[in-house]
Amino acid sequence: MSGDVSPPTAERTAVEERANHDGEAPPLQLIGVTREYDGGGETVRALIDVDLTVEAGEFVAVMGPSGSGKSTMLNTLGLLDTPTSGEVLLDGRDVTTLDDEARTDLRKEYIGFVFQDFFLIPTLTATENVALPTVYDRDRDATARAEDLLDRVGLGDRLDHRPPELSGGQKQRVAIARALINRPEVLLADEPTGNLDTDTGRQVLGEFERICEQGVAVVAVTHDELVTEYADRTVELVDGRLEEQ
Ligand code: ADP
Ligand code: MG
Repeated sequence: MSGDVSPPTAERTAVEERANHDGEAPPLQLIGVTREYDGGGETVRALIDVDLTVEAGEFVAVMGPSGSGKSTMLNTLGLLDTPTSGEVLLDGRDVTTLDDEARTDLRKEYIGFVFQDFFLIPTLTATENVALPTVYDRDRDATARAEDLLDRVGLGDRLDHRPPELSGGQKQRVAIARALINRPEVLLADEPTGNLDTDTGRQVLGEFERICEQGVAVVAVTHDELVTEYADRTVELVDGRLEEQ
């Protein structure tokens, strides 16, 4: 959020809503969410009547084979996709039918996203990559905060390295630091250990544990069993239906 101008109305409303709901409503909730796609004439039901509640500081793993609806679910939680029916609640607020601009504002303020591929800019340093989500807000503290986050994920000695000079696990940790730059309440990760060896995967999952300890709700969708070792709770997607384990 910029320091010298008032935040846009949607953002201000979100802040007020959060203040109203702090400590009451869960940060993240899906209620009866169904998502249907048009699969070339026939309807594909990627999610079917999914209920999920994630509490502050909880780490939830969502397991499921390819095509079971994991990415659709994560995109729905991250307001990148809209359910065909059902509701998405953030801090108890129904955000299902908000317009694109309001969703973008909420995403920026509230949600950190770790994409399956790191999506780092190869010509920027680690610090610049982490600070990138703040450029449009001209956030003067961003560089210091980016450096602090990189230090927290164990990359304090890699601040000026560019992605080609970083290992896979280091790139993933830069992506996690970037997802945290706007102090989100919710961190969403798509296959966070997908392209990492077991030791590096454990390091990344350890970061998620520490992030949870600070009260952030973490949801990771994955087919990697290792994630379940670190998660507080594991649920499974089977052909679009969510089953508790
Ligand atoms: P996963 O991430 O578990 O592999 P997805 O959520 O990507 O699963 O996909 C679930 C189902 O929805 C699959 O059958 C997939 O083909 C279908 N699907 C996903 N996105 C779209 C889309 N934009 N248009 C049509 N079908 C889609
Ligand atoms: Mg997927």
